[in-house]
Formats: sequence, C-alpha cells, structure tokens
Amino acid sequence: MIQLYDKRFKLFLKEEEILAAVKKIAEEIAEDYKNQVPIFVGVLNGAFMFVSDFLKHYPYPCEVSFVKLSSYRGLTSTGIVETLLDVPDNIEGRSVIILEDIIDTGRTLQELVHLFNHTNVKDFKIASLFYKSEIYNGEYAIDYFGMEIPNSFIVGYGLDYKEQGRNLRNVYELYPDQMINLVLFGKPGAGKGTQAEFLKEEYSLIHISTGDVFRYNIKNKTKLGQLAQSYMDKGDLVPDEVTIKMLRDEVEKHPDSKGFIFDGFPRTVAQAQALDNLMESKEMKINATIALDADEEILLERLINRGKESGRPDDQNADRIRNRFEEYNTKTAPLQSYYESQSKFHSIDGVGAIEEITERIKGVIEGLRLVEQ
Ligand code: AMP
Repeated sequence: MIQLYDKRFKLFLKEEEILAAVKKIAEEIAEDYKNQVPIFVGVLNGAFMFVSDFLKHYPYPCEVSFVKLSSYRGLTSTGIVETLLDVPDNIEGRSVIILEDIIDTGRTLQELVHLFNHTNVKDFKIASLFYKSEIYNGEYAIDYFGMEIPNSFIVGYGLDYKEQGRNLRNVYELYPDQMINLVLFGKPGAGKGTQAEFLKEEYSLIHISTGDVFRYNIKNKTKLGQLAQSYMDKGDLVPDEVTIKMLRDEVEKHPDSKGFIFDGFPRTVAQAQALDNLMESKEMKINATIALDADEEILLERLINRGKESGRPDDQNADRIRNRFEEYNTKTAPLQSYYESQSKFHSIDGVGAIEEITERIKGVIEGLRLVEQ
C-alpha cells in the first residue's frame, strides 16, 4: 500500500509484468516495421518510462520524438485536452507510431489523431501500454496494446496522481477509502450527541441522530413529527417501522459519505437487524458499536440540567426520564449481546471530562483502522 496526498493505492502490476507487456508490443511492432525506419512519438508526460523501455526492446533502426497533451487533473479526466508540445517536424512521408501510456475514454487519442490528420504521414499507428477497453468509446481502433486493464485509477511507471507517483516501478491502483460506520450506544444523557459532534469532524462522518431528526420534524410540523410526538412526549420509543424507514431515508441522502455515526439508533433488536440489512444492501457494514457507560443517577442530573438549558420537554421531568431509562433497560440493553456476538461491542467509561471520553473513543476507532488495513 502506498499513499499519495490523501489517497491510498494498492499494488496492481509488478515491474516484471509491465516489462513483459512492453516487450510484447516492441516485438509486434518490430515485426511489422523491420523494413522501414519508423518514428516513435511518445506522449508526455505519462509515456516516458514506457518509451524508454520500449526502445530498449526495439532492435531495428528508428527515431524518437515526443508530443505533450494534457487532460487529467487529479482523478478524473477533465475532457479538456491541451496541446503543450506539437508534432515533430520532418514527418512527411514517414511511418509514425504513437506510444501512449494509457488509453481510457479515448479523448486524448482523438486529439492526437486530429493533430496528425494535417500531416502527410505515410502511415499512422497507435500503440498503448495500457488499454481500458471497457470505457474506450473512440472510433479509432487501437493498433497495438500491452494489456487490457479494468476501469480503475492507476499510478506508477510514468502515470501520476497530481503529478506524483511517476517514479514508481510498479503500477498501483486506487484503494477505495475505508468507510467507518459507528453506532453510539448508551442511555439518554450518556453524551452520545456531544461525542458525535467531535467524531464527525475528526473522521468526516455523517452524524444521524434519530432524536434530532424527530425533533426537527416536530418543529416543522411534518407528518412524521406529528406521528412521533406523542411517543416522545411520554418518553416511549417511536414504533420501529416509522423509525427504520426514517433512518433509511437519512442514509440515502448521503451516498458519497465516508461513513456514518448512528446516534440513538438502533434502540431495539428489530432496529439493529434492520440496520444490518440496510448496510448489507448498500455493501456497507457497522464497524463498531461504542457504548458510553454511566450511572443512572449521574445521567438523571445531567438531563435535568440539559432540560433547563434546552427547554427539551422530555428532559424536564424525572418520571419521563426514568421511563426512558426503563425503555433502554428493557429494549435497548439487549442489543449489547447482539453486537457482542458480532465482536463489535466496545464499552467506554462515559464519566469524566468530555475530551477524556473523546480520547477513549478515538482509541477504539484507531484500533479498528489498524486491524482493517
Ligand atoms: P434522543 O434524542 O436520542 O434521546 O431521543 C429522544 C426520543 O426520540 C426518544 O425518547 C424516543 O421517543 C425517540 N427516538 C429516538 N430514536 C429512536 C429510535 N431509534 N427508536 C424509537 N424511538 C426513538
């Protein structure tokens, strides 16, 4: 695994495999052009290593020159192809063979063909070391290629990511970012929301607090809000089918997220199963459940104080708070064994300074990242 800027790349082709492909193209072209003196035109910058190794394997008289075009900026092709170094002189009546490092959409190739259209060359051919046949949509048939590769972003052996990685001898493929999906678990007042605020910044995650989503809907008098209000007012759980559907909607709003923090969900075993199903359907998974542990009497005090500041009705009455603890103990606590059986349950001491608790949670997450790499 190598890192260039913010991206990680994993080994895709070893130097020997690349050189074997280079040699194969050189031999094919040598066979076709042994009775002429072709001009090989390398396409800068990416093809410089390919051109160099190609020439070492080309046994007959030949000339070499370069053109320079550019279309990639970062990871995606911009579609804008600039000519930075133009066609060589004296190519009239000659056989020209373009040496490209990679052909993907074919936009650069189209521009190349266009560049040489105006010249009176005798013969014009394209040779590319790598060829993404799946996404190539140009009209021009590729004359020679070293190997077909799938449509992934690659670096090394002349190819770059933001100009770095050209010096690598092997070719590496972009490694998808590891998602981190966390469930924050704990009784009301345990500090799930507070810790989620920090974690979402640190790891660029989307924080979904089901309680917050319900409160937002109540405030805006939506149908969902009206449905949830009576349950929330009493400190009861909103029925699973309502909550599960809402959760799915929230996840689907963020298809490109680096991961989610589920806060206040799941609260029942049925919700935990629904969450696992949802994750699976999106090729995601819960990496860890982090439980913030604290004594009920401490939590009661915290909630009453919070209620005074926020005006949240369900935080202002000791009986309702106790009912929420009761809901937790009967319906949510059984989730511990659900997640323990998947080896995902991590208990954290939730009493202490906010920063100390944050450090404890970070310790769990860093541990996960190390294991999964
Ligand atoms: P919270 O802000 O997480 O303490 O949630 C406040 C209230 O919203 C809870 O007491 C429930 O009435 C309701 N609620 C939040 N999350 C859920 C859930 N996952 N399932 C059922 N009800 C929930």
